[in-house]
Formats: sequence, structure tokens, C-alpha cells
Amino acid sequence: MKCPICKHGEVKPGTASITLERQGATLVFRNVPARICENCGEIFHDGEIAASLLKQAEAAARAGVEFDVRRYAEAA
Ligand SMILES: [Zn+2]
Repeated sequence: MKCPICKHGEVKPGTASITLERQGATLVFRNVPARICENCGEIFHDGEIAASLLKQAEAAARAGVEFDVRRYAEAA
């Protein structure tokens, strides 16, 4: 698939580190499945992965976490 941002690069499957800030909590997720443009480096996520990350970040914020680095887990 062609990148919709730069319209030149090819978007390829890979993994990326994602940082999310939620209600005062900063969470870094490593090894998140993503598609990455080889030209401009834009990262694209599937909707369900983004929703899962958001859910995990909100749960961590509610648990009082301020900063956390974790590996992305599919079923969490
Ligand atoms: Zn691009």
C-alpha cells in the first residue's frame, strides 16, 4: 500500500514503539504491530490495536501508574 501522507513511500508491516499519555500517566508500548512508511516514517495502526493500547493506558492511569514501559501484549 502507498503511504497516504507522503504519497511516495511504500507502507510495510513492522513493529514500533508507541508512547501514550493518559490522565497523567505516560506509557511506552514496545513491539507494537504497525505499518510503517519506508519513506517518511509515518506509523499506521489497526483500529483494534489502537483501542487496546488506549484501554491499557487508561487502566494503568487508574491504577496510579505515572510512567511505565511495557511490551505490547495482544490479549491484555
Ligand atoms: Zn510516507
